[in-house]
Amino acid sequence: MAIEILPARLANQIAAGEVVERPASVVKELIENSLDAGATKIAIDIEKGGAKLIRIADNGKGIAKDELTLALSRHATSKIKDLDDLEAIASLGFRGEALASISSVARLTLTSKPAEQENAWQAFATGRDMAVTVQPAAHPNGTTIEVNDLFFNTPARRKFLRTEKTEFTHIDEVLRRIALARFDVSFSLTHNGKIIRQYRAIKNSAQYAKRVGMICGQKFIEQAVTVDCQHDGLHLWGWLAHPEQHRSQNDLCYSYVNGRMMRDKLINHGIRQAFSDWIPNDSYPAFVLFLNLDHKEVDVNVHPAKHEVRFHQGRYVHDFIYTVCQQALQQALSQQASLVGD
Ligand code: ADP
Ligand code: MG
Repeated sequence: MAIEILPARLANQIAAGEVVERPASVVKELIENSLDAGATKIAIDIEKGGAKLIRIADNGKGIAKDELTLALSRHATSKIKDLDDLEAIASLGFRGEALASISSVARLTLTSKPAEQENAWQAFATGRDMAVTVQPAAHPNGTTIEVNDLFFNTPARRKFLRTEKTEFTHIDEVLRRIALARFDVSFSLTHNGKIIRQYRAIKNSAQYAKRVGMICGQKFIEQAVTVDCQHDGLHLWGWLAHPEQHRSQNDLCYSYVNGRMMRDKLINHGIRQAFSDWIPNDSYPAFVLFLNLDHKEVDVNVHPAKHEVRFHQGRYVHDFIYTVCQQALQQALSQQASLVGD
């Protein structure tokens, strides 16, 4: 075969393989876009586990009519401009791939109205070359993205979708993880027209525990050991479940780096090691922990799904997490022991 440039849709479908695994990954990308746009209210509507419909409506800053076409193009982003930006990423997105990828494997429509624009406009991409059509629409300030019939044109991927219930469970889990990272934003989630979750925005940090209780359970939060420690540019805060509440699965392991949800080996190792004196080797601790550090100290551009990070000083970060958690647990448990002893 002669060398040829791939048609736009095909190139985007290939890229979609990395970020659009299932409905939950679409939901994650779209909510992250809403958060990057400064939304304080995000409504998520799902039908048939997301295979039929995923709709995310936000009250963020919107996309100007002239930029709708770009928003749907690959490698188009408003979030970074140069290598310096890439090395200190503050936004959740930056690859400029999600919308282009999703619209190559589903019927995506983007409707938006920035506050300063009088009318709303709607855009969608069609055909092999993903030519974008833009037409007038009605919409309040903010953006709605509707994704219909995910994987309708990629049967091999559609076949991998699990039952409606399983796919919805994954979506619910994505929302739990994000809702824990953004107490200041209100989220609602419906499935087939029924309200399933409603997390109201919390302004006062003293009330954060309420949302943690909704997501991780009352028992978790009532007995949790709180952590809050700053040292030499690192800040770790959050909640560790009492070691007695160890679990057979890692289903309540929520860790964040600069507000981004993570499944990072180094972080998890530090935390598990801190718990190791009190819980069996084959079980998992439960925790909600936030690590904040200078954006320049961490590289998030390791994997398209952005679940992993690379710390410039990995060992130092690991030991910090271990020490802070270990000491917090030690202190809480010895206080408890002395109470029992009295
Ligand atoms: P990335 O998030 O990596 O920049 P995306 O493909 O997810 O790439 O989005 C492309 C661009 O579209 C974003 O950079 C942003 O400018 C715009 N955009 C996407 N979703 C929204 C939204 N909900 N509100 C405002 N702008 C959005
Ligand atoms: Mg994005």
